[in-house]
Amino acid sequence: MSNKILPPATIGILGSGQLGRMLTIAARQMGYRIHVLSPDSDSPTGQIADKEFAAAYEDLDAVQHFAQSVDVVTYEFENVPTQTAVACQEFAPLRPGANVLHVAQNRLREKQFFVAQGLPTAPFAEVTSLETLLTGLEKIGTPAILKTATSGYDGKGQVLIANGQSPMVNRQPSIANRQSLAANAWEAIHHQPAILEGFVEFEREVSMVAARGLDGSFAHYGQIENSHVHHILDISQAPADVPPGVTQEAVRLTRAVLEGLDVVGVLCVEFFLLGNGRLLLNEIAPRPHNSGHLTIEACVTSQFEQQLRAICGLPLGSTRYLRAAAMANLLGDLWFPANDQQSEPSNHPDWTAVLTHPHVKLHLYGKAEARPGRKMGHITALANIATEAATIVREARAKLNTEY
Ligand code: AMP
Repeated sequence: MSNKILPPATIGILGSGQLGRMLTIAARQMGYRIHVLSPDSDSPTGQIADKEFAAAYEDLDAVQHFAQSVDVVTYEFENVPTQTAVACQEFAPLRPGANVLHVAQNRLREKQFFVAQGLPTAPFAEVTSLETLLTGLEKIGTPAILKTATSGYDGKGQVLIANGQSPMVNRQPSIANRQSLAANAWEAIHHQPAILEGFVEFEREVSMVAARGLDGSFAHYGQIENSHVHHILDISQAPADVPPGVTQEAVRLTRAVLEGLDVVGVLCVEFFLLGNGRLLLNEIAPRPHNSGHLTIEACVTSQFEQQLRAICGLPLGSTRYLRAAAMANLLGDLWFPANDQQSEPSNHPDWTAVLTHPHVKLHLYGKAEARPGRKMGHITALANIATEAATIVREARAKLNTEY
């Protein structure tokens, strides 16, 4: 029996945000059908899917109905409960597998996986109590970041523990000071299981989006350079301007992650690039990634089409860049008058302002409610070099008259 899942088969997606929406667009283009399950209705993915199952992830009857109606199941965010994914597996292949979800949804397990594979990462300590936080602080020192083990993304569930005004002030706090720093931080994350991570004085942040096929084939999109504002991705540009040796090392490390977890699908590795050219793994996302959105316009095969090809057992597509590219996120902040995040959102931004630039492509995710920090869409521009593309998206977004 062929293990290829061919159109017009039905792809099942757990989670219904913008990643599922862009996967759905790619799937529809290739003649697949899409069923989506999440607690929401009229969701970004559901709006354009063939069928939207609006049910709690814990509603295992609904999960069973969903899984019985599809030929393969994937997920578009890693906080889907593992037990939901496992329940699907009885009826359809789950790609990437439940083991990948299990590791990626818990920062401690993720770090332990890095260590077990010999992959470089920031020093860390497991935190389960105020006492273990204190022991961790003794070992790691300050500055350090306390991160909840689960449910953290875009800087949520993170507290900087710094002995001074700036995280760059690197002094060992006195015992009394360490105790009060620890108590405040432990309070701030509401006593949840966490990891304490050494603060990395990186030079840049880069990511590598890659895919692994059912037959073990591997493809990657090179290094993408990312800048964050308030811990949320702001601008991505590719190809990143890094020495070839660094890219080779990133490929080696990324491949080790996909092979170590036996991933079938797309996975993104986020790295810190240090001044001396060393790479440290920050975290992994076992799905298409925000930094890879620019592949829609820039590459022969987008990360979303690649995800489909991988989970359907098809050959991976070319990841070649047709041109350099940059992407700027459009956050819900754009819907609020500048400097007034408390008031009611105003009308939709005037998109003609960004579209007056003929090279800018607008993507909106169909989210009904704009909130500060919420990812509502993005814009992409292509150019001869990545920095030029980044200038275009920055300028285009600035026309929306905000504080960016
Ligand atoms: P994360 O959710 O872990 O990816 O963190 C979000 C952002 O916070 C990262 O992209 C970095 O900009 C910053 N960050 C996270 N961990 C560290 C660290 N150990 N040292 C310095 N900055 C960090």
